[in-house]
Amino acid sequence: MPLIALDLDGTLVDQASAARAWSAGFVDEWRLPAGEVDVVATALTARRPKGEVFSEIIGRLGLPTAADDVWLDYRSRMPSLVTVTDEDRIALTELRAAGWTLGIVTNGMLDNQEGKIRRTCLDSLVDGWVVSDDVGVRKPAPAIFEALASRLGCALEGWMIGDSLELDVAGGAAVGLRTAWLDDGSDPTGYRPDLVVDSVAAAARAILDGQPSATPR
Ligand SMILES: [Mg+2]
Repeated sequence: MPLIALDLDGTLVDQASAARAWSAGFVDEWRLPAGEVDVVATALTARRPKGEVFSEIIGRLGLPTAADDVWLDYRSRMPSLVTVTDEDRIALTELRAAGWTLGIVTNGMLDNQEGKIRRTCLDSLVDGWVVSDDVGVRKPAPAIFEALASRLGCALEGWMIGDSLELDVAGGAAVGLRTAWLDDGSDPTGYRPDLVVDSVAAAARAILDGQPSATPR
């Protein structure tokens, strides 16, 4: 059956609120100014390799600890801080019942991303996933989408649902997928998602209703 590829952070799980909760704990632990919660949370929500982000944070704050240790703490706590909405869980169940193969394609470290997938029970709602750290290539490179299709044993035909214009919309379109963009407030000039939605559930409704034509091109 055709594939629906889904992004994880900011799409299936509320990475930004979870990052903010972690940042609040970090600021408290190190007795930093309260304003640092927003600064650190914003840095951790940027779509960049987190190793770089933690090096910058620890260097800027001059803390007597290793950036790698703080990054490890972040990865160990994030799986218990993210949530998935009930509406999105139901939508995934309905898509699978309609015959779609569901796979998560996400940039990040295997322990953190897989921890989030398992802790939220998304592992029981999708058919599989690929994490960039595990396959050695990050979105938007075509190879990570090809790795997902290969892992799931299906053709690279169907949809990509995600909140990043560059990683998910452009990346998915480049390998022939239709794209549903969860509007994150970015300027979409230059990108052409097939759907603009506010949740995975909304994308699923449109796909199941065949608007626009949900069958592979
Ligand atoms: Mg995302």
